Amino acid sequence: MLNLPWKKNNLLQKRALKVMPLGVNSNFRYWGDGITPYMQKAKGAYLWDADGNKYIDYRMAFGPIILGHAYDEVNEKVKQEIDLGTLSAMTYELEIETAEKFVQMCPAVDMVRFACSGTEATMHAIRVARAYTGRERIIKFEGMYHGFQDYTLWSTYAPTEAYGNYGNPISVPASSGIPRPLTELVITLPFNNPEVLEKILRSSGEQVAAIIVEPCMGNCGAILPQNNFLLFIRRQCDKYGIVMILDEVKTGFRIANGGAQEYYRIQPDLATYAKAFANGYPLAALGGKKEIMSIIGHGVAQGGTFTNNKPGVAAAWATLTILQREPVLKTIETRGKRLMEGIHKIFYEAGIPVCMNGYPAMFSFAIGVEKVTDQRTWNESEKEYYLALIEAMIARGVMPDHDPREPWFLCYSHSEADIDTTLSVVRESVKAVSR
Ligand code: PLP
Repeated sequence: MLNLPWKKNNLLQKRALKVMPLGVNSNFRYWGDGITPYMQKAKGAYLWDADGNKYIDYRMAFGPIILGHAYDEVNEKVKQEIDLGTLSAMTYELEIETAEKFVQMCPAVDMVRFACSGTEATMHAIRVARAYTGRERIIKFEGMYHGFQDYTLWSTYAPTEAYGNYGNPISVPASSGIPRPLTELVITLPFNNPEVLEKILRSSGEQVAAIIVEPCMGNCGAILPQNNFLLFIRRQCDKYGIVMILDEVKTGFRIANGGAQEYYRIQPDLATYAKAFANGYPLAALGGKKEIMSIIGHGVAQGGTFTNNKPGVAAAWATLTILQREPVLKTIETRGKRLMEGIHKIFYEAGIPVCMNGYPAMFSFAIGVEKVTDQRTWNESEKEYYLALIEAMIARGVMPDHDPREPWFLCYSHSEADIDTTLSVVRESVKAVSR
């Protein structure tokens, strides 16, 4: 149980609970009574809570902060641009330039449309795929999260028993209020399992509009695709005329300038982005092949009042400019690799089995298991122990997310010294918490 000298935090929680469900504006931010952090400020790689305690941040707001919190050059560009108007509901040059940079950087994107959140981007991508194929069903993978919309909020996190047999998985809605008839339209399958995917496609492939997939399980322990699973999906999509949607909301502009499509040299038909695109400002996107994207506006609806909001576009313009100019992702990769290796060594020396997953810029570790391939195998890891360790780290000034599914995210502002401090804290926490 987190034991922090929180006075103002807890007072803020009491106030917040009166006016917001769970005292937060997104369910994921509620960690429990007396243990939910309320924040005062963030700068670079650090966060300060309402009581003024400082943390090295590894949540990075669930991934968007790729350069650092309140990054001066990004904020300067935003300040400059918002004085010229925040919203006009008309297109402007900076927006076109940002789209041009985007298309230059992402190898599988010929055309792009902006949105405000990852949820919106995936919702639009699915509609475009349905319109393009004239089909209605979609396939998604257990443990993957594509936002809060009804079509994808299925089988995101459930006990293994609820998922049924590997060969015949049950789609589990992740919330009350999701219409039951949608079960007909959403097929959920275990990740990294070509046999099950092939079997379902043999029977239903011609009814499937899209397979939506995160490049790695960015919302469940950063489990990587194994045995070229993404390429396998690509080939099956070609075989059955299905649109492959790569959900790069977490990997885009984070694991490579061109995201996972560059990293794996994979050509999805559509891809979705948000998070690192604008270093923490609200901007998202869906992009992809011209042939598919061009149907937007020709009987296919996409839009939104805030989709070209100036703060978001200005921040994205500045973020992409810096990514193109400086070795941002290379630096993050070097430091992240050292952190991952250091954590692995600490567990190894303590005789604790651990399975490191993900990329240096976005990694996780599952304790007590040798290998994880999907959410079912990840469910066998020692989540209670992981949580106890994370709480020990937070009490010592290092803040990864409280949820074991959520990766550790690095940014350009994490220094070598931050990595050293973090490794000392991990070592102390492993010593302090009994397994
Ligand atoms: N897709 C992925 C892979 C995500 O990780 C998320 C959010 O974490 C989303 C979509 C939804 O994005 P947003 O929270 O901006 O709606």
